[in-house]
Amino acid sequence: MTKPEIKCFVCGSDDTAKTYLPCYHEGKEKIVCTRCLPALIHGSH
Ligand SMILES: [Zn+2]
Repeated sequence: MTKPEIKCFVCGSDDTAKTYLPCYHEGKEKIVCTRCLPALIHGSH
């Protein structure tokens, strides 16, 4: 049994102390940490 990889696709963090949420980016399911989520919502450009 391999653990599913939980790693933020924005900052690359895999710190288990953080909270991660699944999301879809460019048609693929990704994991994002709550710290990066606001940036995703508001856009980085
Ligand atoms: Zn992150």
